[in-house]
Amino acid sequence: MHCPFCSAEDTKVIDSRLVAEGDQVRRRRECLSCHERFTTYEIAELVMPRIIKQDGTRQPFDEEKLRAGLLRALEKRPVSTEDIESSIIQIKHFLQATGEREVKSLTVGEKVMEQLQKLDEVAYVRFASVYRRFKDLNEFRKEIDRLEQQPDSK
Ligand SMILES: [Zn+2]
Repeated sequence: MHCPFCSAEDTKVIDSRLVAEGDQVRRRRECLSCHERFTTYEIAELVMPRIIKQDGTRQPFDEEKLRAGLLRALEKRPVSTEDIESSIIQIKHFLQATGEREVKSLTVGEKVMEQLQKLDEVAYVRFASVYRRFKDLNEFRKEIDRLEQQPDSK
């Protein structure tokens, strides 16, 4: 990286070590031109990407919404809370591991289907049959509401 003092391109690392219990790398650098020294910290970027909706709008990832969608598909199915939470963790890991700052809602939906398929075949079919048509979690939930004729509790 460039020297922050003189903007020279060549700097060398003179010391490198793990800090913050191994979550960061601290590097001591020296500029080959002006010989100033400075420190850089390297950390893994594990932010949750924003979700690109079908209409192009962006929304922050909403774990509660994801959980609600899964629970809806798994309603009255013999699947433990632990297994559901483990699926949510896997979906989140997947999203973080993409390294992308934005991910299509479609991609999230495909991942949800993949997890549901592992959890419960009925829930998977429930989700997939609706989702493949609507490709949107909100619309999916509305449709499930309609199908089950549950009164909307507003
Ligand atoms: Zn310099």
